[in-house]
Amino acid sequence: MAYQRPQTPKEAWHALLEGNRHFVTGEPAHPRQDVDRRESVAEIQKPFAALFGCSDSRLSAEIIFDVGLGDLFVVRNAGQVIAETILGSLEYAVEVLKVPLILVLGHDECGAIRATIDAKEGNLVSQGEFIHNIVARIAPTVTQSYAAGKKDIDDITELHIQDTIDDLMSRSTLIAKAVKDGKLGVVGANYKLALGEIHPLVTHGEVA
Ligand SMILES: [Zn+2]
Repeated sequence: MAYQRPQTPKEAWHALLEGNRHFVTGEPAHPRQDVDRRESVAEIQKPFAALFGCSDSRLSAEIIFDVGLGDLFVVRNAGQVIAETILGSLEYAVEVLKVPLILVLGHDECGAIRATIDAKEGNLVSQGEFIHNIVARIAPTVTQSYAAGKKDIDDITELHIQDTIDDLMSRSTLIAKAVKDGKLGVVGANYKLALGEIHPLVTHGEVA
């Protein structure tokens, strides 16, 4: 059967969920990774989703969603920290590439979040000036979580995903409008390293 690119937020989200199921059960199809696919997307890309996730080496986007070349527009940095360049990349995916879905993907035992907790506790040892910059951007979430009595890394990770989505929706008018117009879905999810599972935490738009 010829490949049909998911067109709606719901189709895109369900395609990711289905691909992740293949990965979780150990039955990946490795679709669209051959020479034919490479040649067919060489002229123009038409990914069906944008993924903004942590750089963690275990969050390999095309592997954990069992998708192929040209399927995902991927933006990653340590701790999936919003920055203007990230917002610009995601706006490009929506406005130019017309992806119907943005997935923000955090994960358990994230080193960037652990470093921010260590900083909060006065235990961060790092010579990296710009590592401190990443930590500074996650710090408000940790402070907020601590104030609510939640010091567990899993609680902080979930709050960070929520905060990242809030930031995305409030700062990018283009993205917020695309969601309002029904053209875009935004999902925030947590990835479980050991299980390989995606746990959605927050959604905007018609993805269900
Ligand atoms: Zn991470």
